[in-house]
Amino acid sequence: MTETPTVETREFQAEVSRLLEIVAHSLYSERQVFLRELISNASDACDKLRFLAQQDAGLTAGDAEFRIALSVDKDASTLTVADNGIGMDKDELVANLGTIARSGTAAFVKAMEEGQRKDTPLIGQFGVGFYSSFMVADRVVVESRKAGTQAAWRWESDGKGSYAVSPGSREARGTSITMHLKSDAAEFLDAGKLAEIVRRYSDHIAIPIVLDDKTLNRASAPWTRAKADVTPEQHEEFYRHVAHAFDKPWGTLHWRAEGKIEYAALLYVPGSRPMDLFAPERRHGVKLYVRRVFVSEAPEGLVPRYLRFLRGVVDSEDLPLNVSREMLQNNPVLAKIRQSVTGRVLGELEKRAKDDAEAYGEFWANFGEAIKEGIFEDAENGKRVLGLARFRTSAAPEAWTSLADYVARMKEGQDAIYYIAGDDPKAVATSPHLEGFRKRGIEVLLLSDPVDEFWVAQTDDYEGKKFRSVTRGAADLAKFAETEKKDDAKPEDAPDIAPLLALFRLALGDSVKDVRASERLAESAVCLVADDADIDIHLERMLRQHKQLKAISKRILEVNPSHALIKALAETVRARGENQAVQARVNEVAKLLLDQARIVEGERLDDPADFARRMAAALAEGFAPG
Ligand code: ADP
Ligand code: MG
Repeated sequence: MTETPTVETREFQAEVSRLLEIVAHSLYSERQVFLRELISNASDACDKLRFLAQQDAGLTAGDAEFRIALSVDKDASTLTVADNGIGMDKDELVANLGTIARSGTAAFVKAMEEGQRKDTPLIGQFGVGFYSSFMVADRVVVESRKAGTQAAWRWESDGKGSYAVSPGSREARGTSITMHLKSDAAEFLDAGKLAEIVRRYSDHIAIPIVLDDKTLNRASAPWTRAKADVTPEQHEEFYRHVAHAFDKPWGTLHWRAEGKIEYAALLYVPGSRPMDLFAPERRHGVKLYVRRVFVSEAPEGLVPRYLRFLRGVVDSEDLPLNVSREMLQNNPVLAKIRQSVTGRVLGELEKRAKDDAEAYGEFWANFGEAIKEGIFEDAENGKRVLGLARFRTSAAPEAWTSLADYVARMKEGQDAIYYIAGDDPKAVATSPHLEGFRKRGIEVLLLSDPVDEFWVAQTDDYEGKKFRSVTRGAADLAKFAETEKKDDAKPEDAPDIAPLLALFRLALGDSVKDVRASERLAESAVCLVADDADIDIHLERMLRQHKQLKAISKRILEVNPSHALIKALAETVRARGENQAVQARVNEVAKLLLDQARIVEGERLDDPADFARRMAAALAEGFAPG
C-alpha cells in the first residue's frame, strides 16, 4: 500500500526560478512594493468571493465583512498579510504560485529576456506579483482555505528552486501570507513604516486594510469619489491595480452618468501597447461592478472590441446584483452603457487629438491599428472613428495626418483620396506607383496595417471623397500634369512607344492582362497595376495568404515612356523593329522587367532561376567589349 506523502516538494517553473533570482537581489529602495502586490492580490480575492456570494450566500456566512489584515511578530521577525477572500485549494496554489500566472509578471520576464533591461529597478515599475515577497523574505509561508471547502493548504518556499505543499491548519476561508523577513528588512516590522507604504500605494483599495485595529487606507473605491478628489498619483496606483499593468496611463477618464442610465466609470488608456493586442482571445480590460460589488472581469459587450485597450471600472446602478454572465450577454442596460461609454471615450479622444496632437500621435501609434476596426465594426460611430484615424502619407511620412488635413491639402480638381496599401511600411513608402503622384504634388495615404484593406473596402467615402488605390485602374493624372508642366518632359519628347508596347504584349502573352504607357511612373521603368474591375493587388495577396482566394488575377504592366531604358528600346524598335535579333532582345527585356515589377510588388517569382539567368545575360551583354 502506498501512502500519499503529507509534504510534496515541487520545482518552480524555470521562468519562476530565474525571476526569483532577480527578485532576491533587487534593490533596497524598490523593495517596499511587495506590499502593494500582496494587498492587490488580497483585494482581488475578496472581490471574487463577493461576486460568488451573490449566488451562494453560504460562502460568506458568518463573516461577510471583507478585510485585509497586516500583522507583525517582532520576535519571530515575520510580517503577515491575511485576507478573508476566496482562498486557494491545493491545485490553485500549485498553479498560481509555482508558475508565472500572467500580466505584469509575464511582461517583466519578457522584458528581462529580451535583454533590454538587466537592471533591477524595473521590478518596482513592473511589480512581479506574489513573487515580490521574496524581495524582503528568505522564507514565505502561504496558508489558504478556499471558500466553501473544509481543507486548508500550506505552501512554503525559500524561493530557491522549489516549494513544498502540505495540508494546512487555517480555520477560516481566505489566505495568509507570512514573510520571514531578511535580516536587512526589519523596517517592515515597523507599524509606522507599513502605514506609510499602504497610504502611498494602496489607498485606492476599497477594502479596509487593518493593522493593530487601525484602518490604514481610505477604503473607498476611487471611482466613487469626486473627480477632484483623486490625485494623479492615486490614479496611477489604481491603474496598476485594475490593469495589472506596469506603465503609466496615457489618459484618464472619470465620470458619472446620471439620467436614463446611471453608472460611474473610471477608465484608463494605457501608455504602452500590450503585447497581445491582436491575440484572437484578447478581451478588453474594463471590470463591471454593480453598486460597488465586483461582478465580472471583462464582460463581453461592455466595451466595443476596437476599444479593447481600455482598462478600468464601470460601476452600474441599474443592473441587478445577481446578474449572471449569461444574462449579461444580451442585456439592454449593458448595451446602453456601452453606447454611452463609447461616445464618451471617442469624445475624449477627439479632444486630446485637438488639444495635443503630439500626445495623440503617441496614442495612435500604440492603438490606432485596433481602433481602425471600429470604422467598419461600429455602424453608429464608424464616421467618427474615421475622423480619429491618423495616417502616414507620401507628403509627410514621419508625421500623423488626419483625413481632414489630407482633404484640406488636396490639389485643385482632385476628387479622390489616394492610398497605397501593402504589408511593409517601407516598401509602401518607396513604391514606384507613387512616383507620378509625388511629381505632381498629390498626397497619397500610406497604409500598411492588415486592417487597412478592410476599412477601405467598406468605406464609401470621407466627406464625399472616394478612396482610390494608386495601384488600381488608370492613374488619371494627366489633368494634374497641366498644373506643373514646366519641369515636365514635353509629351512630344517622348518617343512613340506604341510599337514597343506591341512587342511587349507579344513577349508576355498570357502573363499580363495588358501593357500600357504609364502616367504614374517618374523614375522607375515599369510597375504592375490592377485593372479597375479587379481587386487591389495587396488585398488580393492578403486574401490569398488567408486562403480565401486561389486564382491570381492578371495584372497590367505599365511602362514609363520617359525612362531612359524604355526610350532607348522604343528608338531601337522604331528603327530596326523587323530585325529578329532585336525582337529576341526585346522579348528578354520584357520578361526581365515583368519579373522586376513583381519583385517590387513583393510577389514571388514563378521561376527565380530563369530571372537570374536573364539578368546575368543582360549584364554580360552590357559589359561585352566593343
Ligand atoms: P497576478 O495578480 O498578476 O495574477 P500574482 O503573482 O500577483 O499575479 O498572483 C498570481 C495568482 O495567484 C493570482 O492571479 C491569484 O489567482 C493567486 N493569488 C495570489 N494571491 C492570492 C490571494 N491572496 N488569494 C487568492 N488568490 C491569490
Ligand atoms: Mg497580483
